[in-house]
Amino acid sequence: MEGKEVKDSAYLFLGSIGPAFENTALGIGDKLALKAIAWAYGVSEEDVKRRYSRIGDLGDVAFELNMGEGKLLAIDEVFGRLKEIKKATGKGSQEEKTELLSSILQRASPKEGKYIVRIVLGKLRLGFGDQFLLEAFSIAFTGDKKYASRIKESYSVCTDIGELAESLAEYGPKALGRFSIKLGRPVRSMLAQRVKTFEELEERIPGKKAAEEKYDGERVQIHKNGKEITAFSRRLEDITAQYPDIVEAVRKGILAEKIVLDGEIIAYVENRKADDSSEEFYSFQKLMKRRRKYEVQKYTEIYPVAVFFFDILYLEGNSLLNKSYPERRTLLEEHLRESRTLRLAKRTVTNNLEEIEDFFNKALEKRLEGVIIKSMDGNSIYEAGKRSWLWLKWKEEYASGMRETFDLVIVGKYYGRGKRKGSFGALLCAVLNEKRHRFETFTKVGTGFTEADAKEIDNLLSEHVIAEVPKNVFIKSRMLPDIFVEPALVIEVLGSEITESIGHTAGQGEGDTGLALRFPRFLRIRYDKGPYEITTVKEVWNFKEDKGI
Ligand code: ATP
Repeated sequence: MEGKEVKDSAYLFLGSIGPAFENTALGIGDKLALKAIAWAYGVSEEDVKRRYSRIGDLGDVAFELNMGEGKLLAIDEVFGRLKEIKKATGKGSQEEKTELLSSILQRASPKEGKYIVRIVLGKLRLGFGDQFLLEAFSIAFTGDKKYASRIKESYSVCTDIGELAESLAEYGPKALGRFSIKLGRPVRSMLAQRVKTFEELEERIPGKKAAEEKYDGERVQIHKNGKEITAFSRRLEDITAQYPDIVEAVRKGILAEKIVLDGEIIAYVENRKADDSSEEFYSFQKLMKRRRKYEVQKYTEIYPVAVFFFDILYLEGNSLLNKSYPERRTLLEEHLRESRTLRLAKRTVTNNLEEIEDFFNKALEKRLEGVIIKSMDGNSIYEAGKRSWLWLKWKEEYASGMRETFDLVIVGKYYGRGKRKGSFGALLCAVLNEKRHRFETFTKVGTGFTEADAKEIDNLLSEHVIAEVPKNVFIKSRMLPDIFVEPALVIEVLGSEITESIGHTAGQGEGDTGLALRFPRFLRIRYDKGPYEITTVKEVWNFKEDKGI
């Protein structure tokens, strides 16, 4: 087989006439196919219909009706015809499509006719997908199965299965490793690994790392080639038509001529204030309302979206896939002019896990799902199509294997943002050190409150606000809240782990570290308890030792 034939048959094997990221729909439904079969084999449409309801597959109906031997059709003939069918649009196109299909069915053998009908209807049903085909390529073009995994890797970068097949047919294994990102051809997304414990983040990516906010929306890869702007989904579909607002924003905000960006589309709450700190986001479900063919413009206004870009993969003719994450991030920042629709993923870079935890908690306050931790290493390349250990995800649900509750007293408030603007974003809470007769800070609670809870707490705290650190409270400067409150109001908090902390003071002895409660969640106000009836430092130590939390 020639390269071009290999290419076309690769598409045909997958029941298509082009790569996944191109619109290859031929515009033929059951009704037209039924008519074409009737015309091709000189029977009535009624007859075809009856057979169809008996057999349930129009391909099989064509097979049954086709009495001719049919000389073998050439692949390029079939392929060319299918392309013509796709091309026919506008007035009279239905008739034209039917005729084009009917005439090729006339010349086809029964088996060929059966598969042609199935392909035009998008129901080839060969029982295998692209991964299987890649394994077949390995045997066919390299003579050995062992290249299958490298072929699969190449397919993450060259996602056009026809192009890949053609190169393999021409160059054999030498074709591998030669593929690079190309404008208009999306690469498969890099994915994040999951860790079991928060500490594992440090084991997997020791030292300096970035924590980026994790947006729960739709992954998008945007290719800009001059005036042409295309958006691809994670499944590599062309979703440009759904997001005219993003296309417009990219046209204005991305000045580079040729660029590929990776990000997440997220629907946001309307009437957001101009300052960034007040934003909140809708869940994934709301964004899905934008998945539509009709009334796109109307829904653009009802459900505005923003794209949070977190990567850049290509710039002015050069692939950036092998550049490190810090280098890519710098380029991304240089080439993105931020606007309401185009944003940069927020992040913090640190080697301190506590700061990451803080960043994570703040993300949850904004109703985001968690964080993605990214390696800052020199080798932190973009691993297309891979679930990579260079990216780790830490989500609320992982953190919520919560096992123990604690009664804590509130000693400070941090200002809130977004919906909780005017109220608090988090509360600084303390346990009781019975020996020293003082309250020592143990955790910062920012999640689990309803709006009504927050209001009630604000109300109850209002009479306890004081101007400086209360005398019976031990707070380190790095934890200083925006507002101090006297230890009075007790809340019940659920937590998952107790760890050593350089920020908190609970149980702090001669050394510099205290104990902290990780991933705290507010449960309720303990109206029935006073500050001296709360969880003590001794109990915290016991919890830590007994239960290993
Ligand atoms: P996965 O995508 O890892 O298979 P999933 O679809 O269930 O799993 P999650 O586990 O929730 O998704 O998280 C990973 C996804 O988060 C990424 O694929 C990406 O779409 C999205 N994401 C959001 N924010 C970021 C970010 N800052 N960096 C990388 N990915 C992000």
